Amino acid sequence: MKNMNEKTPKSFPCYECQAGMMRLQFITYFTWLGEELVTVPGFPAWVCDVCGRREYDQRAISWLTTMLNPETGRARAPRPRLHRPVEKRESIRPSTD
Ligand SMILES: [Zn+2]
Repeated sequence: MKNMNEKTPKSFPCYECQAGMMRLQFITYFTWLGEELVTVPGFPAWVCDVCGRREYDQRAISWLTTMLNPETGRARAPRPRLHRPVEKRESIRPSTD
């Protein structure tokens, strides 16, 4: 089992500009799947509030990669769902610190 006790930081210094803070935001992720433009609303991403650099949540990326796997599509399998239990994430609320 993974250790889920590690706290996900709400923000961390941007390593691109080193001036801004990367903050978790939910954006609409666009990607091309062959000739099809796929949009994924509510996709978690860390966005720098100064330079705008985006870092995507690795778990979300791997989920998306699985979902968009060409072999999965070719088999016309039902889209894999997230059936792992929803982690108890801290609810997104305005940062108070
Ligand atoms: Zn930055």
